[in-house]
Amino acid sequence: MRRSCTSLRAIWTRAARGLLDCIVVDRTLVIIKPDGVERGLVGEILARFERKLLTIELAEMRHLERAVVERHYSEHVGKPFYEPTVEFMTSGPVMVVVLKGPLDTWKIVRSLVGVTNAADAAAGTIRGDFGIVTSRNLVHASDSAESALREIGIFFPHLA
Ligand code: ADP
Ligand code: MG
Repeated sequence: MRRSCTSLRAIWTRAARGLLDCIVVDRTLVIIKPDGVERGLVGEILARFERKLLTIELAEMRHLERAVVERHYSEHVGKPFYEPTVEFMTSGPVMVVVLKGPLDTWKIVRSLVGVTNAADAAAGTIRGDFGIVTSRNLVHASDSAESALREIGIFFPHLA
């Protein structure tokens, strides 16, 4: 069904021309974690999102401060993996990325990323193809529309 393009939030996407009529702009946050950066997988990972017709709105290499990671992972405070995860996320540079796409882009991105435990992640997903353990699963991706908004606000307040 043809979707109306009258909304301010609706745009034509050049990349999708011919495949989609128009899409509603939605954003989600991805972080290529220190293992992905160190292994030289940034290009490979970003290419997968681009091939899916998602747009890279912003991508910035950063060495994260502990306070930022603590805010980002606040839902996990007190869990056994919390401290090692915070330490790992501050151990080296990461690529923080805002992806743009249709409504519920976070869902599309999570399906490309695969499940948390890389050992269980399906072949064809980023974690399934490049990871083998949960603690080195290469990529963070927002898990809901609310998380996407919250997380983009942490890393890029001017976009929130
Ligand atoms: P996801 O990244 O798939 O949203 P969670 O939000 O549950 O997963 O966990 C956040 C991150 O914490 C995971 O990506 C992983 O790096 C780490 N983590 C989660 N569970 C474990 C675990 N059981 N052992 C080691 N690390 C974990
Ligand atoms: Mg999560």
